[in-house]
Amino acid sequence: MFLIRNTTTWIIGLTIFGGVLVTHAMTGPTSSSPATPADAISELMAGNTRYVEGRAESHNLPAARAGLAEGQAPFASIIRCADSRVSPEIVFDQPLGELFVCAVAGNVPTPEIIASLEYGVAVLGCKAIVVMGHSSCGAVSAALENRDDTSVLPGSLPALIDQIVVPCAETADLDAPDALDKAIACNAHEGIGRLLNGSEVIAKAVKDGTLCVVSGVQDLKTGRFTLLK
Ligand SMILES: [Zn+2]
Repeated sequence: MFLIRNTTTWIIGLTIFGGVLVTHAMTGPTSSSPATPADAISELMAGNTRYVEGRAESHNLPAARAGLAEGQAPFASIIRCADSRVSPEIVFDQPLGELFVCAVAGNVPTPEIIASLEYGVAVLGCKAIVVMGHSSCGAVSAALENRDDTSVLPGSLPALIDQIVVPCAETADLDAPDALDKAIACNAHEGIGRLLNGSEVIAKAVKDGTLCVVSGVQDLKTGRFTLLK
C-alpha cells in the first residue's frame, strides 16, 4: 500500500520498498510546500538568498516538534559533504522536516547514498535532488593531491577518494590557480550522472517529470549556493 492522505487526515501506510517493509507516515502537500520540481529549486534558492542576506526565517520553534513527530514530507533531498561547515537546513533556510539530507565526504553518491535518496523520492515524495559541493572541500583536495596513488591515504579513504579521482582529478591542471574549484564543480556535477545511471527509481522519476536532479557549489565565505549549468 502506498499513500496517502488528504489535507486533513493522516494515513499510515505500509510500503514494500526495495524488498523491505517500511512503515511511514507522511503529510500531503501544504499550501507552502513546493508543488513542482522547479518550485522546489526556487524555494531552495530563495532560502539561500535569505541566509546570505541574514534574513533567515527558519527558527525551529518548540511548538513545531509535535507535528514533526507525526511524520515527514520533505520536498527536496540533498547530498552534502560531511564537512562541518556545510549544513543544508541552514544554508537553504529550511526548518526541520523539509530536507532529506545524506552526508558523505566529497558528496559522492555511493550505493548507500543512492538507496537513501531512492527512499526520499519513492516513499517521501521529494521533488528535487541537489548534489551539494562546497568551496575548500578537503575530500576533493585529497583527490587532487593523491591522484597518482590514493593508497597512501589511511583506512577506507582510498575507496572513497578514488570515486573523485577518476572523473575529476586525474586530468586536472594542478598548476592552475582554480584547479580545486574546478574539481569541486566537476565532482558535484558528476553526481548527477551517477544518480541517473545508478538508479532506475531516480531516472524514472526524472523522466516522468516528478523529480529534478541538479548540482551546485556553496561558497563558504559568502554562503552563496550557485547552481551548476
Ligand atoms: Zn567537502
